[in-house]
Amino acid sequence: AAPVPSTAGATPMMEQYLEIKAANADSLLFYRMGDFYELFFEDAEKASQALGIVLTKRGKHQGAEIPMCGVPVHAADDYLQKLIGLGFRVAVCEQIEDPAEAKKRGSKSVVKRDVIRLVTPGTITEDKLLAPSESSFLMTLGRIKGGADQSFALAWIEISTGVFRVAETNAERLLADIFRVDPRELIVAEPVFYDPELKPVFDVLGRVASPQPASLFDSASATARIARFFNVATPDAFGTFSRAELSAISGAIAYVEKTQKAERPPLSRPEREENGATLFIDPATRSNLELLRTLSGSREGSLFKAIDRTVTGGGARLLADRLMAPLTDAAAIGARLDSVSFFREETRLAEALRMALKGVADMPRALSRLALNRGGPRDLGALRAGFLAAGEIARVFARVAPPAELAGALAAIDALPKPLAEHLAGALADELPLLKRDGGFLRSGYDAELDEMRALRDETRKVIAGMERDLIEETGIRSLKIRHNNVLGYYIEVTVNHQAIMTGTDEAKARFIHRQTMANAMRFTTTELAGLETKIANAADRALAIELAAFDRLLAEVVAEADAIRAGADALAVLDVSAALAALSASENWCRPQVDASLAFEVVGGRHPVVEQALRRTGEGPFVANDCDLSPEGDAKNGAIWLLTGPNMGGKSTFLRQNALIAILAQTGSFVPAASAHIGVVDRLFSRVGASDDLARGRSTFMVEMVETAAILNQAGERALVILDEIGRGTATFDGLSIAWAAVEYLHEKNRCRSIFATHFHEMTALSNKLNRLHNVTMRVKEWEGDVVFLHEVGKGAADRSYGVQVARLAGLPEAVVARAKQVLHQLEEGETSGKADRLVDDLPLFSVAVKREAPKPVQSDALGEALAALSPDEMTPREALEAIYRLKGLI
Ligand code: ADP
Repeated sequence: AAPVPSTAGATPMMEQYLEIKAANADSLLFYRMGDFYELFFEDAEKASQALGIVLTKRGKHQGAEIPMCGVPVHAADDYLQKLIGLGFRVAVCEQIEDPAEAKKRGSKSVVKRDVIRLVTPGTITEDKLLAPSESSFLMTLGRIKGGADQSFALAWIEISTGVFRVAETNAERLLADIFRVDPRELIVAEPVFYDPELKPVFDVLGRVASPQPASLFDSASATARIARFFNVATPDAFGTFSRAELSAISGAIAYVEKTQKAERPPLSRPEREENGATLFIDPATRSNLELLRTLSGSREGSLFKAIDRTVTGGGARLLADRLMAPLTDAAAIGARLDSVSFFREETRLAEALRMALKGVADMPRALSRLALNRGGPRDLGALRAGFLAAGEIARVFARVAPPAELAGALAAIDALPKPLAEHLAGALADELPLLKRDGGFLRSGYDAELDEMRALRDETRKVIAGMERDLIEETGIRSLKIRHNNVLGYYIEVTVNHQAIMTGTDEAKARFIHRQTMANAMRFTTTELAGLETKIANAADRALAIELAAFDRLLAEVVAEADAIRAGADALAVLDVSAALAALSASENWCRPQVDASLAFEVVGGRHPVVEQALRRTGEGPFVANDCDLSPEGDAKNGAIWLLTGPNMGGKSTFLRQNALIAILAQTGSFVPAASAHIGVVDRLFSRVGASDDLARGRSTFMVEMVETAAILNQAGERALVILDEIGRGTATFDGLSIAWAAVEYLHEKNRCRSIFATHFHEMTALSNKLNRLHNVTMRVKEWEGDVVFLHEVGKGAADRSYGVQVARLAGLPEAVVARAKQVLHQLEEGETSGKADRLVDDLPLFSVAVKREAPKPVQSDALGEALAALSPDEMTPREALEAIYRLKGLI
């Protein structure tokens, strides 16, 4: 940010502005003036550009005009959303005293203002600013350095729901752990942020990561900070945390305090996630598999979108969380699967549950807004709806004995505070206004005095209508009206041509007290009308006071029960996810996987959930199911490697991805798209699929591929699942083949993990002679009248050829090029020394003998002849013929 201008020579208001701005230099300052938030100087320029609003000027500072723009307070949420989306942070500065108070201090005195809240991507709570089915995490990184050693921990919270988790990590898996949570905002202590060793991490994260003063992260004062925040004597009761964890937790709390100022979100106590409890998925794999978003960043086309059948926002968020962090403990996975199985069998009950869940509003987010004092009647309404649905759900389950996970959830639902539920049901009206200051949210019959005030108000309104009739009769002015506005209150209005009647005589003048003259109307009041006015105003004031007091009482009750409400809401999400996965598996015909501690990986009739649904939508015919068996064979201790060959477009990547997705789904606790599946728990999933283009970061595709491959070969253990697609493609053939070859050997001998390796190097199929756990499989194709037909079927064996030329033809390459390519291919194959692959096998280990090969003889160029031969003059129009001649000339 540019330096904030100095206050020298500023008006008192500008001086106040500049002081507040200087304290919030990294944020846009929304400075409250009446019904607007105003922005000045550079902030105004940035905001007017970002929001497309007019940039004006207001006064001068140090001789120069002050740029200014403003947004109306009532529409501020929309503007905030846009600014936050663009990566800005906003400091909201309010008037914190009544302007009348300031006046008392003297005419020049400025209204006291202060920043009441910093709005940052990770700390928003407004419904409008949050997507219902997406979590919005704020994450902090703690680091403790002891000499050469350093330890790391991440803490992440969601202010809008109260989630608070912490986990240890290390430099190697830091990025992967961050991507797993996918935070909106990552806060890092300055010295860590600027540590050159960690720069690559923060570079990848871009705007998501930002530095904060190191004092926020001080692990020594962390315990006191945590104890203060949670109002406990010592945080030991939450568990023992490492120093890095304490630092991360402290950073999160300090940042919440910094951004939320006086208010305190109802965060749950920090919950530690044990290392290794979740499936490690490295960042490249995560994005390549398009779990939550496609590579282009859209939700449409992601795995999540294909499997989400939840009916509540909380359920959708839980499903996304689970998908991002599949489990590694077979028993815990089994418990989740039991829940899904239960709903698969109890279909009626599942339907009744889903119906009831549809009535659940977003309880956790409503709860947070209430606790932060930003809630309105509709947030209380959301809780009421949730309690109501919870009661309904308890009845639905009355006579069944569900499995453990569901039973636990039902217990939490049962523990929802019933008195509060009754209070809300008894107090709140059916239709609720957005803002409590408008009143009208309490049900009639709830408070006798309120009812009385409302009756008085309504009755008085009737009296006023009667008065209007009487006045028309008295004055003979048929167009006379009694109206109301906020400035005058109730008044009598007549058009100016009736002035004489109202003011003509002394008597009339005494009776009709003049209030206002407009262009063509005059406004009056009478003593009676003023009297009624006061009565109505008093009744309305009193009514509102009663409503606000009731709101505060309900609010206090809600805040006192925050833990129980959150636990109940979490439980509803668990029910939603389990029932939704059951519905999914029924409609998509998925099966329950057998998940255990073995090293099996046996999928029968597996499908790719996203591709299958897409093919169905476009009517492009059925998805061809395929088996995959990587389980250890015979007395082998380790899983197998499948070497998959086949032409481009044959379905290789689809097959690779589908098996990775099946592993993820199974460990998430979901049924899987297959006829049957037996999965021994995978601890790390790696993939190198497709060209994730990193060119923007200045690395070549090949370099990226090698970096990712290196990471896999260095990290995969025998429990890993490795999916590699077309390694070595981005370089010269022999380089590429050698690298792919060596990588497979290494996987087989060193990593010894279950893998599928797709390649277009047919030479590699010879490796199966040497490596006993390696099997050749191929995507079947049929040749038909010179064209290829893809069967999308994985079968044993090796592809005999690559059909590249035929595929090119399908893609619409000009016939002349296809014909020519066939000729070149033929010549190349002729010149090929036979048995090259066998020789490579004999030469193992590969790099001891360099593979020498003579360059193929240059092919005689006869492009012109080829092109001529491809022409059929009888089928050409004169124009095409002319174009052909030009083209042919170009070939000379
Ligand atoms: P490759 O990786 O071999 O080039 P892809 O996996 O990208 O091939 O598949 C190419 C296209 O073939 C996909 O877009 C999809 O529409 C179709 N396809 C792939 N696998 C199947 C299958 N098992 N059943 C039906 N269609 C498939």
